[in-house]
Amino acid sequence: MSKTVSTIDPSTGEQITEYRLLSDEAASAAIDRADAAFQSWRMESLANRGKVLNKMADLIEQHSDELAQLMTREMGKPIAQGGQECQLCAAICRYSAEQGPEQLKDETRPLQGGRALITYQPIGVILGIQPWNFPLYQVIRYSACNIMAGNTTVLKHASNVFGMAQKIEQLYLEAGLPEGVFQSLLLDGAGASKLVDHPKVRGVTFTGSDNTGKKIAEAAGKVVKKTVLELGSNDAYVVLSDADIELAVKTCVQGRVVNNGETCVSAKRFVVAADVYDEFRDQFVAQMAAIKTGDPSQKGTQLGPIARKDLRETLHEQVQESVRQGAKVSVGGQIPEGAGFFYPATVLEDVKPGMPAYDGELFGPVAALIKAADDEDAMRIANDSRYGLGGGIFSRNEDRAIELARLHFDTGMVNINGYNLAQPHLPFGGVKDSGYGREHGGFGIREFVNIKAVMISHQ
Ligand code: NAD
Repeated sequence: MSKTVSTIDPSTGEQITEYRLLSDEAASAAIDRADAAFQSWRMESLANRGKVLNKMADLIEQHSDELAQLMTREMGKPIAQGGQECQLCAAICRYSAEQGPEQLKDETRPLQGGRALITYQPIGVILGIQPWNFPLYQVIRYSACNIMAGNTTVLKHASNVFGMAQKIEQLYLEAGLPEGVFQSLLLDGAGASKLVDHPKVRGVTFTGSDNTGKKIAEAAGKVVKKTVLELGSNDAYVVLSDADIELAVKTCVQGRVVNNGETCVSAKRFVVAADVYDEFRDQFVAQMAAIKTGDPSQKGTQLGPIARKDLRETLHEQVQESVRQGAKVSVGGQIPEGAGFFYPATVLEDVKPGMPAYDGELFGPVAALIKAADDEDAMRIANDSRYGLGGGIFSRNEDRAIELARLHFDTGMVNINGYNLAQPHLPFGGVKDSGYGREHGGFGIREFVNIKAVMISHQ
């Protein structure tokens, strides 16, 4: 008997659909089909690959309402933010189609007695293992650039968003992508991890928690397969003594609760210089307390439920453990009565090393406030983390903030006086336990290509 999984509406706790998981044999056969499709897709012109991606962008826009509703239903995203995710995905498809030919074109270099070519060739089937938090974006960001590069891919999506996984496959087919170039495989983690070893899988791109990412990297390392790891973080937003506090508060609240606080690059720790701490804290707590929480299908809702019951339990345990160790709850911190997996916007103060709110990743609307002695101390605390995905600086001295961002912030991305999610034209990725490799900006498209040197000697 094959196993089944159900998708659950996190606003109500009710089942949406039950799915039957693929057997190991069926998953392996899908890889064989992806490899067969690769033999012709690799020969397809860049222009034709780009046409499919442009069509995919159009389809995502046309189906935007339906896709946003599916996100809300399967993982509780506030409906307006689902529309924004669709726009971003359409832009990524168009960017890949437009920039791909530039990133992938042959280069010539000198060679004594001849000339040399550098050519970027696809490598084969890429296994994509993705999380549920941006159910469309996570898949589009890795698949669009690989499809453009000439690879084929099998997706193992998170099981709570299997409806979205199937929808994406359907849209790619409708966009004109040949059968087998993109396949969604309904697998659990154990089933997906077996595919890392499959001889026809040539690379693995994983987005998710650092715990799982390390296991995938270990398995791939044993069989010498390249990985890209986009993992979690505990991003620090540093508020320096000369910051515009009103701007910092507004931006930090938004950066904490966007996507129900379930974002790898959420603002999570707020490290505030002592002389502006009280002013920042008072406004921040008041604004977090005023966040409109509730039914994510309503347009005005800012904060919906946590995506799964077990994830809400983990979040609450992290809050309680931080409190046991001396953190103070300034607002929130209690699981509300009623159906669904809601968790209130929460602020913890007096957060110290050793607490989950300082050392770990709180994947939900919980902010950790940390008072720093001064600006220098604030930067030290920001970097005092095993993670290094993103971060932010608030200061009226832009030049100094840029210098701190360039030279001192040990992360892959830094926001100055603002908060931004991923951008199609800019690199996205981390350092330290947040992983390695880059998405977007022309960098993602070269992660899984064979950078081949062809040396031509004159006869
Ligand atoms: P997760 O690691 O539990 O799961 C991610 C994916 O891996 C899912 O598809 C899951 O089913 C699968 N999986 C789980 N165990 C597996 C195993 N042993 N072998 C193979 N696959 C397995 O992560 P999650 O809770 O779903 O996602 C949240 C995490 O993802 C957070 O840490 C977040 O910060 C991170 N994230 C990072 C980025 C980024 O770009 N850096 C983006 C989004 C999310």
